[in-house]
Amino acid sequence: QDEDSPPIPRHRVTAKGSNVPKHIESFEDLQERYKLHTQLLFNLSDSGFKRPTGIQSHAIPILLESRDLAAISPTGTGKTLSYLLPIISSLGSPSAKLKNDCGPGVRALILAPTRELAHQIHNECLKLAQGRKWRIVLFSKATASTLADKSVQDKVDIIISTPLRMVSALQAGSLELRNVRHLVLDEADRMLDAEFLTQVQEIITACSHPQVQKAVFSATLPAGAEKIAMDMLRDPIRIVVGLKDT
Ligand code: ADP
Ligand code: MG
Repeated sequence: QDEDSPPIPRHRVTAKGSNVPKHIESFEDLQERYKLHTQLLFNLSDSGFKRPTGIQSHAIPILLESRDLAAISPTGTGKTLSYLLPIISSLGSPSAKLKNDCGPGVRALILAPTRELAHQIHNECLKLAQGRKWRIVLFSKATASTLADKSVQDKVDIIISTPLRMVSALQAGSLELRNVRHLVLDEADRMLDAEFLTQVQEIITACSHPQVQKAVFSATLPAGAEKIAMDMLRDPIRIVVGLKDT
């Protein structure tokens, strides 16, 4: 977005849960509070992101403080960056740089209901990660088969996938998710409905690390899906963003 783009609408935000971390006013706050990498701040401004949106100013500190989160915020309010920035900020060295034969492998997994959406998330992730050497993979038939080679898989940092593609790889025994520390369900209303729920639960079970952080993001979350989400999260914070009346 350029100088002439309209300002981002202000939002009414409510956050509920235990010890909710304080929201940020600017991306620079992140540098002070969390020692955010300068390259990451540069990439933000390079993408034209000057100020955090309502969901971003609340969700980013919560995720950076390793809390589980259910976030409900309207379409177009910047939910993608809300989870990508904390993930990228927490990665440290690329898996490929780690000297031992067995790198940490996949450390973040983002699930989205459609291939199209997964593709968009992948693009935004690549932009945000510019200048660093992480391997960020859009999971497809082709990349799944490349990653079946353990030595390749160990060098991957982030995977973005649809549930079905991921479940196929898990069932084939060709993917290891036990080092995943960040699991995100985007468009969680769809991910937790009957179409995907069994697949999503299978993937969550495969992310067996005791410290896996889980976050769900959605524009809406019907009561049924919300209950499933809250049961799946640990000591969660729930954020709801509503557009302010104009
Ligand atoms: P949502 O997932 O909530 O529907 P997106 O993450 O797809 O929203 O973001 C919507 C649009 O807003 C995208 O074009 C994105 O690049 C842009 N955007 C996100 N965050 C900001 C920001 N802080 N400043 C300006 N534009 C932003
Ligand atoms: Mg979205």
